[in-house]
Amino acid sequence: MPGIYIHIPFCKAKCRYCDFTSYPGKIGLSDAYMACVIREMQFRAKDLEKYEFGTVYFGGGTPSVVDPKWIVGCMNEIRKEYKLADGAEVTLELNPGTVDAEKIAAYKHAGVNRFSVGLQSANDKLLRDLGRIHTAKDFEVACSLLKGENFNADIMIGLKGQTIDDIKNSIALAARCGASHISVYALTPEESTPIYSEEYLNGDLPDQDEVADMYAQSVGILAEHGYKRYEVSNFAKPGFESRHNMNYWKRGEYIGFGVSASSFMAGRRFTNTPDLDEYTKCILSSHYPVVDDEKISEKDARFEKVMLALRTADGLDIAEYRSDFGSEFVVDFFDALSKNKEYFDFDGRRVRIKDEFLYVQNQILCDFIE
Ligand code: SF4
Repeated sequence: MPGIYIHIPFCKAKCRYCDFTSYPGKIGLSDAYMACVIREMQFRAKDLEKYEFGTVYFGGGTPSVVDPKWIVGCMNEIRKEYKLADGAEVTLELNPGTVDAEKIAAYKHAGVNRFSVGLQSANDKLLRDLGRIHTAKDFEVACSLLKGENFNADIMIGLKGQTIDDIKNSIALAARCGASHISVYALTPEESTPIYSEEYLNGDLPDQDEVADMYAQSVGILAEHGYKRYEVSNFAKPGFESRHNMNYWKRGEYIGFGVSASSFMAGRRFTNTPDLDEYTKCILSSHYPVVDDEKISEKDARFEKVMLALRTADGLDIAEYRSDFGSEFVVDFFDALSKNKEYFDFDGRRVRIKDEFLYVQNQILCDFIE
């Protein structure tokens, strides 16, 4: 089922590795911005009336820094203008140090039934080096407010000075606090960030092999705690996989609202402007804030389908590929498959990247682009 994504680009401070669309220091604009997001939802409603949506995801930025009345307002608008499936998954990202019991109660009242909490690390020194505003203790406090809720914890690997014990402690903390889902991401030093110009260029970050080793060890530690890998960076207790993200990996449709939000509907991929002023001006003058709009070619669609499905532990459903494209996966990608056959498992119905190679699936899939 299609999903709805809402981007809330405000944060208390800019983390040193962050190149997401986020505007620390502009929280004063959040009321005007959120009113525009609701207006954008109203613009699009007519075009999307035939769709039933199975998930909603509030991402950022830090959605928990805006007044919770806006989360309530967005959900009311979605229920009023769109078809939301019974039992839809509604996720909200939050950061420790930005929530209290009142906010959590408001989110739950609005229909949020899944949370995603940015832990990153249980080591306060590593958190400070990343420029995060919270401590491990703040994470524990946030989790105590989420007791009994379905929530994810984000953990980062590949940090300067990080040890396997740090990773073990981070996973153990998330597990002890009740996370039903853990995402593990390797730090990517993006060129525009302080972490790139300082740590990365100085050679202070772990190299690729060290990060691959951290990842492999994380998979084992997560398994010991009962978290099963279902996608290269995502691990869940049985039944707690993210439905919103699964829709992305199945190449399902989704609509994005807000600054820099991307959408994929009716074979087109389109993206809103990342500029806050431009976004607001477009909405206030009743224009779509889209800066990029591309019809996906049949060839690109096939590659996307394969690339996304092979990120998951379940891999690609060969019958689904046939039904989507009217052709055979093994014929369309014969050369690439022959060249890389040692990396794949086939069981006649599905093709998967072998567990031990999932982390390097990007390199394996290079041959599939041709
Ligand atoms: S909290 Fe997230 S979005 Fe905000 S600055 Fe840090 S990494 Fe970026």
